[in-house]
Amino acid sequence: MADVATEHSAVSDVRDTLERRDPDQPEFHQAVIEVIDSLTPVFDRHQEYVRANMIKRILEPERALQFRVPWQDDEGAVHVNRGFRVEFNSALGPYKGGLRFHPSVNLSILKFLAFEQVFKNSLTGLPIGGGKGGSDFDPRGKSASEVMRFCQSFMTELYRHIGPDTDVPAGDIGVGGREIGYLFGQYKRITNTFTGVLTGRGPDWGGSEMRPEATGYGAVYFAAAMLAESGASLEGMDCLVSGSGNVAQFTCRKLIELGARPITLSDSGGWIHDPEGITEEKLRFVMDLKNVRRGRIAEYCEHFTDATWSPAPEAGAANGLWAVPAQGAFPSATQNEINGEDASAMVAGGIRVVSEGANMPTTPQAQETLVGEGVLLGPAKAANAGGVAVSALEMAQASQRVPWSAEQVDTHLKAIMKRIHDNCLSAAREYGFGNDYRHGANIAGFRKVADAMLDHGLV
Ligand code: NDP
Repeated sequence: MADVATEHSAVSDVRDTLERRDPDQPEFHQAVIEVIDSLTPVFDRHQEYVRANMIKRILEPERALQFRVPWQDDEGAVHVNRGFRVEFNSALGPYKGGLRFHPSVNLSILKFLAFEQVFKNSLTGLPIGGGKGGSDFDPRGKSASEVMRFCQSFMTELYRHIGPDTDVPAGDIGVGGREIGYLFGQYKRITNTFTGVLTGRGPDWGGSEMRPEATGYGAVYFAAAMLAESGASLEGMDCLVSGSGNVAQFTCRKLIELGARPITLSDSGGWIHDPEGITEEKLRFVMDLKNVRRGRIAEYCEHFTDATWSPAPEAGAANGLWAVPAQGAFPSATQNEINGEDASAMVAGGIRVVSEGANMPTTPQAQETLVGEGVLLGPAKAANAGGVAVSALEMAQASQRVPWSAEQVDTHLKAIMKRIHDNCLSAAREYGFGNDYRHGANIAGFRKVADAMLDHGLV
């Protein structure tokens, strides 16, 4: 393993620069430090990156936009939210990455997400750069017409910065098919064009089959690929899933299909444990509850009485969900949802594999505990890349104006996830990190972007 004490000076300079220039961006620091910890052996071997000051260039966004989003609620009261788009890196293609609507959204969170996205998109092997955007708007408790008015106002500013060959946003937390529809409708109206400017569109208006499924399915394919290295499989495993939105739902579906048993789900109010396992029938109830009726996960226990509900922990405290004995874990809610204490509980409960569906769900301390105990850890930028990969396939279908079948898309998705897995493993081994997928993902993702930046000159 590379020794932190001998880290390259180009790498240690970065820590000082971050502290000095962006002291108020802890999530961004966390994401950057996690990557640069992997890069010492790369810089030692590739002086061309050092000469080009590549590390400092790669962690500065090409552009970060912030704008006002005024909107009116159903009573006529006027509200103002903040809109953002961070266009981080376009070395490999148009900026690509989701929009998040959640009250926690700020520049630090969007810079961390956009930075991760650059590496993730590189790992897919598809021609997409990295970006992320969103707003501190909270869609919970808002009527459909309030959400529509908000989306229209948001797009009325965003439209001038995006385009099918420039920047192609998609969904993320709080932005699903409904919101993409409102955003797309407004873009089409303002620009009088029908293009592939957003992905995650409905299948009847330019969307790809399998896009809703892609992130969850991909995270499960990645876990299966990690296990297959040692001749193991997901079949018969009890699995912990957090969240109950898009990623969590399709993670559950694929786990069930592969013979595993998802036994937990959560939302920001609390978590449920169903020791009998979440079956396809129960999952359909969750999908109706969350996607149509927009209710809380606690309702699950009113219908399935073997299950129990527990309230969400205080911020930063241990979450009982992760202490439920199981062999697989699929964090699919939000950043830093597994802390060091949770990781110790997971190890004690028998966890063998963790595949990160959410972005940066595991704190650095938790990662050290898990990897130190020999748990297979699929890092988010690799394990949840299936969503953006199918978004890139949606862009290809939009350019061709030919839709592909679900089977075709799923075949591509499986092949892409396997390729990402293999590339992470071989990069980790090549640079002396053994089987540590975290370092492999960082190195393989970095090298493609850095090489393209060298090719493009100093821009
Ligand atoms: P959704 O909005 O569909 O679902 C998010 C789920 O996580 C909800 O159950 C939500 O609960 C819960 N949640 C969100 N924030 C918090 C919080 N602060 N504390 C506790 N629970 C929370 O989002 P997605 O499923 O699309 O996204 C989930 C994760 O996956 C995110 O990290 C996202 O960045 C990542 N991801 C998503 C991709 C995609 O294709 N959608 C692609 C790659 C990564 P509640 O309803 O109560 O807010």
